Amino acid sequence: MSGAALDLAQKNMESKGWLDMHVDPTLDLEVEIEKLKKEKNAIILAHYYQESEIQDIADYIGDSLGLSQKAANTDADIIVFAGVHFMAETAKMLSPSKKVLLPDLKAGCSLADSCPPHLFRAFKAQHPDAVVVSYINCTAELKTLTDICCTSTNSVAVIESIPEDKQIIFAPDRNLGAYLKKKTGRDLILWNGTCMVHEVFSNEKITKLMLRHPEAKLIAHPECEAALLDKAHYIGSTSGLLAFTKEDDCETFIVATEVGIIHQMEKASPHKTFIPAPPNNMCACNECPHMKRNTMEKLYLCMKYEQPEIILDQWIIDEGVKSIDRMLEISAAAGLGLKPEEEPD
Ligand code: SF4
Repeated sequence: MSGAALDLAQKNMESKGWLDMHVDPTLDLEVEIEKLKKEKNAIILAHYYQESEIQDIADYIGDSLGLSQKAANTDADIIVFAGVHFMAETAKMLSPSKKVLLPDLKAGCSLADSCPPHLFRAFKAQHPDAVVVSYINCTAELKTLTDICCTSTNSVAVIESIPEDKQIIFAPDRNLGAYLKKKTGRDLILWNGTCMVHEVFSNEKITKLMLRHPEAKLIAHPECEAALLDKAHYIGSTSGLLAFTKEDDCETFIVATEVGIIHQMEKASPHKTFIPAPPNNMCACNECPHMKRNTMEKLYLCMKYEQPEIILDQWIIDEGVKSIDRMLEISAAAGLGLKPEEEPD
């Protein structure tokens, strides 16, 4: 590959989000990525919503809590984050001395984007005594305005750790917030954000699907709307849903979250049937377009050239990491997250 091609790709990286360079189609990308991992002492952390081939080459696959715990404890020199932007930012905040790479900087998140920090600052000023709890699906800057972060795995434990006489602001996901209000009995002040993937499940189509498959259990992520959650046999984080399908006797599940998780469900329980819950459009399943921006080619290029890299201002790291550390302390005290055999070395 000529230096001129690399120069041009770097020049275009800001507008494209990634190093747009030719990749030899005869290359075995799995082999090449494995080689780069060893050469560079790099670790690949992948979210459950990634393409299955990326999940299969990752060193650790998990939900936001497990991924944060892994990022905080790894010995690797380079963390390659196969996920979306806020997740790679979280890894950088937890391991600021390490190089954190994201295959495509434009892999964003509609939920994080639904809570711009300048608007949230004004909202927070209206409730000066409230404790701010933010779902980890938010920007690094929003984390600087947050007292405690949470994930869907630890959100109940985080809310319950706050004294009863304290007001609580919950941002940015109104659906998870409504679910937490119900679950904890606390009167949360909610920011009005949503995830574009979890809010478009079709209630009508899911009801029909349940009638066609009376033997199936509906399992749902708490980012889904209340009407759907009310029907669900089980509600949980992505790792919670995966664990439920392994442990429950039921043989058929209708899965109301991003379809990528089904790859791990099928691997763990090959004899069971998993039906993606249909969205309110012509598609049969629900994919996150941000998560799916990452490809094996982009993963290979970012590891080879160590770009795009996540760079954060030092003040954002210093201020924002406090809310993540607090969340990790509460999770550890509640015994949530990585199981002992998954604990990083
Ligand atoms: S599934 Fe929703 S919350 Fe998750 S990255 Fe995509 S847009 Fe964001």
